[in-house]
Amino acid sequence: MAGTTKPHLVLIPWQGGISHIIPMTDIGILLASHGAAVTIFTTPANAPVVQSRVDRATPPHGSAWPPAITVTAIPFPGAEAGLPDGSERLDLLRSPADVPRFFAANKMFGEAVTQHCRGGSSLPPGRPTCVVAGMCHTWALTMARELGVPCYIFHGFGAFALLCIEHLFKHRSHEVVASPDEPFGIPALPAFECRVTRRQLPPHFSPSTSMGGGQMQEMREFEAAVDGVVVNTFEELEHGSAALLAAATGKKVLAVGPVSLSHSPASLDPRTMSDDARRCMAWLDAKASRSVVYVSFGSAGIMPPAQLVQLGMALVSCPWPVLWVVKGADSLPDDVNKWLCENTDDADAVASSKCLVVRGWAPQVAILDHPAVGGFLTHCGWGSTLEAVAAGVPMATWPLFAEQFLNERLIVDALGVGVSVGVTKPTENILTASKTDGSKAEVEAEVGKEQVMEALERLMDQGAEGEERRRKAQELKLKAKEALEERGSSYVNLENLVHPFV
Ligand code: UDP
Repeated sequence: MAGTTKPHLVLIPWQGGISHIIPMTDIGILLASHGAAVTIFTTPANAPVVQSRVDRATPPHGSAWPPAITVTAIPFPGAEAGLPDGSERLDLLRSPADVPRFFAANKMFGEAVTQHCRGGSSLPPGRPTCVVAGMCHTWALTMARELGVPCYIFHGFGAFALLCIEHLFKHRSHEVVASPDEPFGIPALPAFECRVTRRQLPPHFSPSTSMGGGQMQEMREFEAAVDGVVVNTFEELEHGSAALLAAATGKKVLAVGPVSLSHSPASLDPRTMSDDARRCMAWLDAKASRSVVYVSFGSAGIMPPAQLVQLGMALVSCPWPVLWVVKGADSLPDDVNKWLCENTDDADAVASSKCLVVRGWAPQVAILDHPAVGGFLTHCGWGSTLEAVAAGVPMATWPLFAEQFLNERLIVDALGVGVSVGVTKPTENILTASKTDGSKAEVEAEVGKEQVMEALERLMDQGAEGEERRRKAQELKLKAKEALEERGSSYVNLENLVHPFV
């Protein structure tokens, strides 16, 4: 019926990793709370992740609820591209050699989604009015143009990192240094020069990536052609980066975060919590306020065994209780594995233990929001960074790869809410691995136990320096919340995305 049709936003999260799927689902929830009908297209293996988040959503304001969100699973044609069943995320691939096949399958996935959207009137909420596509869904632009609707890109990066990347593409500051380890400045912000080395830059500037130069070029052309950028941030956070990015690219840049606030951590339902989640919350409940160090390296952050051992030794010896989320610890030496596994069976022993190790999936947003957590040792993934900001928790920074070294500089130097562990080199992941046969070289630990301890001491410091970091973190927490409240900056940007012509 004319006049009563809701705007219908189509969201297609990049299935590179769960960390792309989580924030885009949360953006869908926020858009729905602003009165939009939302369809989220994903693959069958990823659909339960999306659906369960939608089911648990508690938006910051309850105007348009329950959300009009349809989760549509489109089969991922991995087999046609030579991938085994279930290869529906980058982190589920066998080796870097599968990455090009994954991108080939993604193109076919795009054709299937486009076919689905072409029959617009058969979609429950009618024809799409806007497309928001994950960073590698370059095909989404053709689809949006065919539908005659705007196309936005969502990278999963923050505005500052995107601004630095834009600056590097234009000014090539990284090419003036002779060595990959020589620091140079990226003067992307007027009052703050980000100093990094070439080795620490995201894969866009790396000569060898398993993604391949062709894919990178295609993504760059996609970025240049879209109508705008949706960013999980808020305008008050990144020293004007969103506005500078808009000026540098000539595109709309809509900061709509922190999107994790689409879920109230307090709403975590004990009846539906996983065993790991229940264990974490019970363990935290038994700890003193701000006494715990939370340690996590994201959804896919895997350290070489030698590095895990050094980190583990620091965590056992430090005086604070530690909640440590460990991924990919299968190849650890037996004695370390034994230590990691202890305390997992006996509930009383778990509650009183100094160190709780989670080898599965931890409820990160709820953990960060728990009053017992005093600091976060993080890999500086943008999702984790923003979740820590939204919870007002100071960070110790240990970037691994991608744009995380840029995020580290923002957290430590520009925002003053973090201390750097001092990592100088990236850790290989599936995109940056140079050996495409999947074999793993022995890698030495770059960061020793003492270096980790020093960073944790500064993070948990009860003196003036630590207090100042905590004060700044609390200030940002308040601003984050305000951004999503009625008439806040992210609230207004969400309105602009849903009702662009009002
Ligand atoms: N996450 C979580 N539990 C885990 C590991 C990760 O909830 O055990 C979530 C975390 O809250 C964040 C995302 O996964 O939303 C990780 O995203 P980020 O951008 O920080 O890092 P990435 O995984 O891309 O390296």
